[in-house]
Amino acid sequence: MKFNSKLIHAGEIHDEFGSATVPIYQTSTFKFKNADHGAALFSGEEEGYIYTRIGNPTIRAFEQNIASLENGVDGIAVSSGMAAVTNVYMTILGAGSHVVSSASVYGPSRVVLEQDLVRFGIEATFVNASDLNAVREAIKPNTKLIYLETPANPTMEITDIVEVVKIAKEHNIVVAVDNTFASPVLQKPLDLGVDIVLHSITKFINGHADIVGGVIVAKEKEMYKKLRHTMVYMGNNMDPHQAFMVLRGVKTLAIRVERSQENAMKVAKYLEAHPKVSWIKYPGLKSHPQYDLIQKQMAGPGSMISFGLKGGLTAGKKLMDNVKMIILAVSLGGVESLIQHPASMTHAAVSKEGKEKAGISDDLVRFSCGIEDVEDIIADLDQALEKC
Ligand SMILES: *Cc1c(COP(=O)(O)O)cnc(C)c1O
Repeated sequence: MKFNSKLIHAGEIHDEFGSATVPIYQTSTFKFKNADHGAALFSGEEEGYIYTRIGNPTIRAFEQNIASLENGVDGIAVSSGMAAVTNVYMTILGAGSHVVSSASVYGPSRVVLEQDLVRFGIEATFVNASDLNAVREAIKPNTKLIYLETPANPTMEITDIVEVVKIAKEHNIVVAVDNTFASPVLQKPLDLGVDIVLHSITKFINGHADIVGGVIVAKEKEMYKKLRHTMVYMGNNMDPHQAFMVLRGVKTLAIRVERSQENAMKVAKYLEAHPKVSWIKYPGLKSHPQYDLIQKQMAGPGSMISFGLKGGLTAGKKLMDNVKMIILAVSLGGVESLIQHPASMTHAAVSKEGKEKAGISDDLVRFSCGIEDVEDIIADLDQALEKC
């Protein structure tokens, strides 16, 4: 199947009732046919379901759907995007190991390394991963993981995935990409040589701002098994209801992404020309410093825009306080347009120095463009900007 058909059909279940959609198997445990059957399931001699933390048909349908979209061997659904991030860290890193991470990443992905895993003897170096020399120089003999987010949250910086994979291969280092901002519609990191791709499905993949969830897809079976072990034993599994919701959401992923990026392009052009806007970073604008790399690596620019106002943070706050249809809220990638201020919100827990080095300036406003009529989005921004 091609991509749009996979969105609808990959992973689907053919049950005895002929259900057209994947039912919610809202059960914690599964009945064995007899004692030998139970033993065979546990030993792995037979395939089947035992207990929902280990596996569940609704969750499994989603895992196979997303693995197919990302061209991976298999997927592991987890309770949240952060569960996906920490699952990757816990699987690849251990006491005495080192990770090289994009400096500009989802706030908590960095906080976990800086404040939590450091207690377990795990060391992290944060680099501007769009600078390949910085990546190369950060590698140490004990580096086990290069962790990338591209486009990066919230700076919209782009990392050349193919080049980083080349560097990593020289040193036998695992590469993981948080593909939340692009979604598999616009970018397929596994095809570019990456070992692990992960998502906060709370964002584009589910797309309707009604559940939190995460998923990890591995390129190879061995890695998949290790990641799955972490999920099963650490217990950060998805719930069948979450899986049902996201199976419904993912069907429209491509049309939502296409429509929202069409809108975002128009909004970005509007903002770029606005006299009160001091700078804008949107992968669809020629003014983006990595415009050429974006053409090579991504199938489209997406719908996330970062910009600053001439009046700095004060003006940015006024903008956020005055939007009417656009929602002042964190999160992104949904059907509705959202606006927020990373320095005081999503990235508030990142150190001041960390924010400065990552380019998360105080005036940065992050906009997630929805699929409303673009005239309404622009009119809302316009009336709010007038007050800035
Ligand atoms: C939201 C987000 C996460 C974390 O996901 P949750 O579902 O909120 O736990 C991780 N990475 C990126 C890029 C995100 O936007």
